[in-house]
Parts: sequence; C-alpha cells; structure tokens
Amino acid sequence: MMLYPFNLDFVNYGDKKIPVAHYPFMFNGKTVPGVLCAVSGRLAGDMICEKDNSARLALFSALRLDFRRVAGLWQIHSRDLVSAGKDRVPFGVKGDGLVCAERGIALSVTVADCLPVFLYDTQSGAFALVHSGWKGTGIAVKALELMKEKWGAKAQSTAAILGPCIQPCCYNVDKERARVFAADFGGQSVRRGGGTYYLDLQAANIKLLKDAGVRNIAFCKDCTFTDGRLGSFRREGASYTRMAAVLYFPG
Ligand SMILES: [Zn+2]
Repeated sequence: MMLYPFNLDFVNYGDKKIPVAHYPFMFNGKTVPGVLCAVSGRLAGDMICEKDNSARLALFSALRLDFRRVAGLWQIHSRDLVSAGKDRVPFGVKGDGLVCAERGIALSVTVADCLPVFLYDTQSGAFALVHSGWKGTGIAVKALELMKEKWGAKAQSTAAILGPCIQPCCYNVDKERARVFAADFGGQSVRRGGGTYYLDLQAANIKLLKDAGVRNIAFCKDCTFTDGRLGSFRREGASYTRMAAVLYFPG
C-alpha cells in the first residue's frame, strides 16, 4: 500500500488561485498516466452540487473541464450508485457514487469528513468515484461489483485511492455506532482511547477492498478535522465547506 502526502497545488482561474490536491493512481508501482484525480481545498469554496455554484464553475474551468460533462451527485449517505456516460451525465441526482467506462466524462462527489474513494480498472478502463461516510461504508466495493457486472472489471487489475477524510484521531462516536462498525468491518476499523470510541473509515475500506481482491491501494492520512486546508463538517459546523473530489480521463 502506498501512503500519499497531502500537498495542495494551485490552479489558475483568471487572477484567482484555486487550491487542489492531486493523487495519481498507482498500479504495480507505476503511475497511471493521463488521468485527473483531485480533491479541492477548503479555500476553493463550497462545492455543493448546484448548477449556479460559482465555486464549482471556477474549479472545473481551472481544471479545464467542460462543466456540461461533469457528473455530480446530491449526497444522501447511502450506498446508491449512478451510472454516467456520454449520453447521460447525471447532475444533482441523489446518490453517493458514480461509475463510468467512457473517457471524456468527469465524475465528481462532495466530501467534508467523509471518505472519497477513487477506483480504476486498468484492463477494462472502468472507473468509479464514491462518497463513503460511516453509513455508506461498503459503497466502494459495491461500485467495484457494478464495474465487474457492467464492464467486466477485475479486482486484481483495479487501483484504488482513498482520499482525505476525518481520521481516527478525531472521529469519536458513541459506543453503539462503534460496536456496529466493528461488527461489520472488523476490529481495526474502531479504536478506543480514554473511554471514547473512534472510527477509522480508511481501515474499514482497506479491509473491504482487500477482501474483494484489490491489491493496489493508495491512501492519504490527512485528517479533515485537524487540517484547516480541508473542509470539515465537524470542525466548521453549519457553514461547512464541501470539497469536490474529481475523477476524469480525457477523451
Ligand atoms: Zn484528526
């Protein structure tokens, strides 16, 4: 498994500099070329999936993406997946994950403490991007299943990236939620300290992906709650910043 440092770059939109972190897919030790895999920083603004959101327009323009070819979901903390393709670019549809096998279509979800998971099958070319919070944990392997069904993707040829999320240093939950999470996703997905329980979303997803046969997994240990460069629902409260996770293979 590969650990990514969190580095923000800046992309230009007019005289604005928009913070974005890039995470390359790695497969068998090599970087997968020609793919955009990114998460916007907090100061890029709130990326709520609405057509007139100027922060989204600025981000996608700066990334040189055609806004009409960017699929985006209205997240509901489910395991619901939506397919995207040239003839169907969902926008504002309810769901928490997008699957696609066509180049030239960008996938986006929003996150603010929840975990973005990027998947790419190096053989079939199918890819997926999901928003995985505690409630929706399992959606990443569900996306892999759908990629298998629709396009013949295989776990062995798939690379996964787990982006920034709230980490077990800060993700305290009540005993009951911790108990259910550990029962469903293994003991390593919950930590205990000072009489409190903490969830580890990445550990849960790594276990699920490994059990499914995915071997190429990269992750970033940055904590959205701790790192002010990132948006965090728990830290920021009502006016929190949804970050956009974006996955795009140029056509
Ligand atoms: Zn933390």
